[in-house]
Amino acid sequence: MIRPILIHPDPRLKKPCEPVAEITPDLRQLAADMLETMYAAPGIGLAAPQVGVTKRLIVMDCIKNGPPEPVVLFNPEILWSAEELSVYDEGCLSIPDQYAEVERPAEVKVRWTDADGAVQVRQFGGIWATCVQHEIDHLNGKLFIDYLGPLKRQMITRKMQKLKRERARDPERE
Ligand SMILES: [Zn+2]
Repeated sequence: MIRPILIHPDPRLKKPCEPVAEITPDLRQLAADMLETMYAAPGIGLAAPQVGVTKRLIVMDCIKNGPPEPVVLFNPEILWSAEELSVYDEGCLSIPDQYAEVERPAEVKVRWTDADGAVQVRQFGGIWATCVQHEIDHLNGKLFIDYLGPLKRQMITRKMQKLKRERARDPERE
């Protein structure tokens, strides 16, 4: 099931999320819905707070061409970050059509629990490294625009407020 994606500004996008204590069938369904929602958008990552659930769960698939490689991460934790930085033009499904360069560690080692309850550890590089850090930020109530200067951030926030007003007035036109 495709779930509606919250648009910034929304208080639910600013809240630190709770750890998942047990992976229940409901949470597995949520992860499946999040992947479906992400692929439909289309996007390469989605965090539970973006669909209004303040739990530590993210999904990703950064493969552009080729067979899909969905990854479901409960309680993801960054164990190590490279000193080397890389810059990507980031976007966010909660901030549609807005992009800005963000500098982050080029590689990170992440530990998480998968949908079967198994602990996974993987080193991510390239776009995967940027994506996993962007999504984990969501779990801490942080958005990519929080890395920008105040003027740029305010400009984007105003555009999003306008977009939300337009959508509220005319919900058919998305
Ligand atoms: Zn995002």
